[in-house]
Amino acid sequence: MVLPPGMDQATFNRAAEAFRRIVGNEWVHVGDRLKGYEDPFPIIDKESSRSSIAVAPANVEQVQQILRAANEFNFPLWPVSTGRNIVFGGASPAMTGTGVLDLKRMNRIIEVNEASGYALVEPGVSYFDLYNYLQENNIQLWIDPPSPGWGSPIGNTLERGMGYSPYGDHLMMQCGMEVVLPDGDIVRTGMGGVPDSNMWQLFKYGFGPYVDGMFTQSSYGVVTKMGVWLMPKPPGYFPYMVTFEKEEDLAQIIEIIRPLRLSTLIPNAAVLCNNLLDLAITTTREEIYTGAGRIPPSVHRRVNEEHRLGMWNFFGALYGPPDIMNASWAYIRDAFSQVPGAKFYSAEDRKGDPAFEYRAQAMQGIPHLTEFSVLNWYGPGGGHIDLTLLSPVTGDHAVRQYEMQTEYAAKVGYDYLGEFIVGWRDMHHINFMIFNHTDPEDRQRVYDLYERLTIDSGKLGYASYRTHVKFQNLVRDQFGYNDFAMNRLQMSLKNALDPKGILAPGKAGLWPDRYKQFARGRIA
Ligand code: ADP
Repeated sequence: MVLPPGMDQATFNRAAEAFRRIVGNEWVHVGDRLKGYEDPFPIIDKESSRSSIAVAPANVEQVQQILRAANEFNFPLWPVSTGRNIVFGGASPAMTGTGVLDLKRMNRIIEVNEASGYALVEPGVSYFDLYNYLQENNIQLWIDPPSPGWGSPIGNTLERGMGYSPYGDHLMMQCGMEVVLPDGDIVRTGMGGVPDSNMWQLFKYGFGPYVDGMFTQSSYGVVTKMGVWLMPKPPGYFPYMVTFEKEEDLAQIIEIIRPLRLSTLIPNAAVLCNNLLDLAITTTREEIYTGAGRIPPSVHRRVNEEHRLGMWNFFGALYGPPDIMNASWAYIRDAFSQVPGAKFYSAEDRKGDPAFEYRAQAMQGIPHLTEFSVLNWYGPGGGHIDLTLLSPVTGDHAVRQYEMQTEYAAKVGYDYLGEFIVGWRDMHHINFMIFNHTDPEDRQRVYDLYERLTIDSGKLGYASYRTHVKFQNLVRDQFGYNDFAMNRLQMSLKNALDPKGILAPGKAGLWPDRYKQFARGRIA
């Protein structure tokens, strides 16, 4: 049992009583009933981000009342939607003792507008819920889930997550929010500011300063409704895979991808991944190599041949009338054919290959859980923590990040399993750092590796777009331009909106005065 820092048991009990009066006894969890809120893959230990209580409101009015009670008792609360953000801490807070404000009971799909292609949802609506709703009602719209496809549109968008279809940039495809501010006030953003607006989910920007982004990766409010744009099902869909034989092909592949993506010939958030990430879907390390240290090139060649993989594998898709797809496909094939040994595959060619099939699902908005298979790479107890550096879409940068990460990992006995997700002008370089989360030594090794890679990459100008609750301070420390001007601005807003610092202390490394002893790095 933990308490919020600085709080005595009597105050905690009074606050818990207040929460119970608001939501009912069964929706306030303490003690053993908090198990479901633990970090499933703790990188330090479970104690370092344990919550003291979980409170699950049924509606917006209860969220307002809970935040007012939290102000009264100086009770820190960490909002989660479905709490499935598991690579980054799940539902667990940055500061031990914080309570979880669990929004999963608020799970209404308030509206789906097929003609205009949007949905308005509450935080507890998962990607599977929305997908099933569209299927059951024969609505010809696609969702865009992340991988794996659990979690929620609100939780993922607020973390600025990505999917794999043309609607892969989730914040770009968000339109209108309802937010409960830390003092309990309610705001509707964008056109939602106009009472009875008929444009809330149709025009993002409203009037005056545009504020939606402020509530992402933030501790400024609790989002209780959000509009999400949905892609109309296209008249045709063609997922494809291109394999590239050599590790050294990376730079050339990326140089080919950039103009194709910028001009939208590659229309979706397509992915280039290394062979081990694909292999980990269907095999374990032990099955391909039992030695320690780097897997030798001869083994790579053998398993790649067996699995029809390259050292690099590109997964893309085309959407639209067949004539247009055929023309684009010819163009894309020509472009990638510049890389000697490039091989092209359609869904037909890869039938029965789980590594292809889950990518093909993701790119057409079908949620899946297949990617969890990679956790078995080193054996039982597997968890992962993702290093998520951003990279320009250039060969030089990709190679530099790849070489550094491969080398650092190899030095401490790990393989590199990674992918580059190609956004509009950037790549999200996701390094799946798999470790045995039940083994303290393994945790420490991966913790150190993550920290070293972040710091050394930072010296080269790279930073992450998102991180685990335990690395929020580390990444915050990288954003030091002009003596941390961004931190000053974000803290000014924090103090204005949440003077008592009750909401999500430590989120994105922002620490209100009451908890500033937990800040680390150069801003501490
Ligand atoms: P998902 O529903 O996709 O599993 P989570 O619920 O784990 O996502 O949310 C990810 C993170 O986003 C949380 O840790 C929290 O910081 C933030 N967050 C999630 N939902 C909300 C919300 N409704 N309002 C404010 N912040 C939220």
